[in-house]
Amino acid sequence: VSGAAARILTGLNSAQREAVVHSGGPLLVVAGAGSGKTRVLTSRIAYLIATGQAHPANILAITFTNKAAREMRERLEGMLGGLARGMWISTFHSACVRILRAEHRTLGMRSTFTIYDAADSQRLMTMVCREENIDIRAYPPKMLSRQVSNLKDELVTPAAQAAAATDRDGQVLAQAYAAYQDRLERANALDFDDLIMRTVEVLTSHPDIAERYRTRFRHILVDEYQDTNHAQYVLVRTLAGQGPERSALTVVGDADQSIYAFRGATIRNIEDFEKDFADATSVVLEQNYRSTQNILSAANAVISHNEGRRPKKLWTDSGSGEKITGYVADSESDEAHFVVTEIDRLRDSSGVRYGDVAVFYRTNSQARALEEMFVRSGIPYRVIGGTRFYERKEIKDALAYLHAVANPDDTVSLRRIINEPKRGVGDTAQGHLATHAQRWNISFGAAVADVASPNPERGEVAGLTARARSAVADLARILETARQDAAAGGKPADILDYLMDESGYLAVLQESKDPQDLSRVENLAELHAVAVEFSAQNPDAGLGEWLDQISLVSDTDRLPEGSESEGETTLMTVHTAKGLEFPVVFVTGLEDGTFPHMRSLDDRSELAEERRLAYVAFTRARERLYISRAAARSSWGAPQEFPPSRFIEEIPPELIDWRREQSSQDLVRGGGIGSGIGSGYGWGRRERRAPSFFDDDAGPIIGSGKFKPGKLGVPATAGSASRADSAGSAHPAA
Ligand code: ATP
Ligand code: MG
Repeated sequence: VSGAAARILTGLNSAQREAVVHSGGPLLVVAGAGSGKTRVLTSRIAYLIATGQAHPANILAITFTNKAAREMRERLEGMLGGLARGMWISTFHSACVRILRAEHRTLGMRSTFTIYDAADSQRLMTMVCREENIDIRAYPPKMLSRQVSNLKDELVTPAAQAAAATDRDGQVLAQAYAAYQDRLERANALDFDDLIMRTVEVLTSHPDIAERYRTRFRHILVDEYQDTNHAQYVLVRTLAGQGPERSALTVVGDADQSIYAFRGATIRNIEDFEKDFADATSVVLEQNYRSTQNILSAANAVISHNEGRRPKKLWTDSGSGEKITGYVADSESDEAHFVVTEIDRLRDSSGVRYGDVAVFYRTNSQARALEEMFVRSGIPYRVIGGTRFYERKEIKDALAYLHAVANPDDTVSLRRIINEPKRGVGDTAQGHLATHAQRWNISFGAAVADVASPNPERGEVAGLTARARSAVADLARILETARQDAAAGGKPADILDYLMDESGYLAVLQESKDPQDLSRVENLAELHAVAVEFSAQNPDAGLGEWLDQISLVSDTDRLPEGSESEGETTLMTVHTAKGLEFPVVFVTGLEDGTFPHMRSLDDRSELAEERRLAYVAFTRARERLYISRAAARSSWGAPQEFPPSRFIEEIPPELIDWRREQSSQDLVRGGGIGSGIGSGYGWGRRERRAPSFFDDDAGPIIGSGKFKPGKLGVPATAGSASRADSAGSAHPAA
């Protein structure tokens, strides 16, 4: 073994070494979090090159995100220098783009094909629905897009879907899918899922091409294998090939960290690897090099509650370390306050840098309370995945309504909402309004008002159809009523509710079958909660003041810059934290109904996925792990009490050092008896697991009781909340 090869092996434990030097049949490394799977993969590549077993061009390494690919490449450059160039280290999607650009002719496409992102494909699907006369109320294009995406994950062609459709929904889907695919091809475009599916198609229908790639990629290595879906699995299997000429396949993963089932990932891929690849060698890694024993014990204890998993013995010799710090907050802002205060304390007392810290939450809507507290505290931070709360479309729309109320001449806001929701005021109608405004030298808003009550001097707005005229007049009246309400001292939250109801904005979201629209409802409910909180803190302030405060918070230019040496604290969903590690981790919102997510509470397999998510969250921490929950959270528009997450209860109590173990409410009641959660709020689907939290039927203690179900406060029903949203981008691998 050469010096370089020996250096690569130094420091690895014997199981890791075995995996790195393995030669022969397929290799599967299954192991818990932090046991060095990614490191093994990287070292194996370096070792193959250093020992001359492979040329850099023979390597195809697949990672889950582009960030992970970059990191792996950097590490390999550190080990091999310039030799690292020429390797394919990329996500599934980027690897497929490279293959398809080279093989476009076989697909009958020009090499200049465009790749449509999720928004593009939705837009295309909308056009398709129009052309095909598909009722978009019953079949929202976005929902169809997602369903088509799921079919492609399973490599189901339009023809196969048509053949398999047994009911009306299935037939509509087949019709939409076929037309959509046709439109894509005519546009010389591929969507994200096509990248995988069409690559598989090229390779399976052209054995010569498959052969060429097989000759090139003698070594195929896949990280995070537990999160591959069926299409990706078939791609790997096809690329590797069978028989004596097959390529050497190495996959590493952890069934306990499979958290992308909603995108078609199937643990089956990892569980059946040995069956699928008959002579596969399995290597198990048991030593964790990332976390302290306390952190590991907590994570192991939680995941052990999942049924049907292979038990693992994960240990570390890095010592027991600090206990896990627990905190029970009264509210989400109290929780956020604890987080920022604790970060500052750690910085002063233990030399922790801002960049050493990550704060996790289950869904993006929880980021808002945290973000606001970070802005106030001046701690540099960065939100990963998902749009910042105030940059979300529905939030911007809602704020645009409010701005149009507060400032009738706010053209930008008015133009944003004039046809949102769709009310038949398209570009032509807007053009007529703009012309009218220009002609009389008045604002666009004044032109809109002119439609409702024509000004004697200026007369009617010319050119509008009857439909557009009545729609604009309605909008003008809604805005005017809200203005009067605001002038009379109406509360911002009430004005928001009025606008969202009367404009039909909320109804469109609520009637949609698209899970993402339900998450938009959640976000609007969150905005409502912000307004309620503002009024509670500033009883005399009105709409204008509230909007000012929001503008300041959301003004990104004012965000403090992280200094080079200190870095910034990272705020992200657990999904986006996969594969990463941080010295200090805060896992927030550990409540039954938040994390685990509401929709999982009565679904065994969803709950198991939530538990894996918790396992991923806890195992990101190297030295310090914080767990917190809020006794009440207002993410549904009015504060609701939430019981502690079952995941907290699954951690052995001796591992937790409670900084605060009871909420103020608990203390008032003298011992942990919660109120009747959401009695009368339609929480019937909620699993009543801890009876002690429910045996007082007095109704919500914090909730005003005035909040009307069916308005913004409507809780998302189990099984329907957005998953794509909580997972960050629908395609992190892009
Ligand atoms: P995850 O399941 O979260 O993806 P993983 O199994 O891929 O984790 P790695 O990220 O490869 O684990 O390794 C976790 C940490 O342990 C890294 O900081 C890595 O450098 C370190 N590590 C791995 N193996 C060793 C070793 N033999 N000696 C020292 N440190 C190691
Ligand atoms: Mg890893």
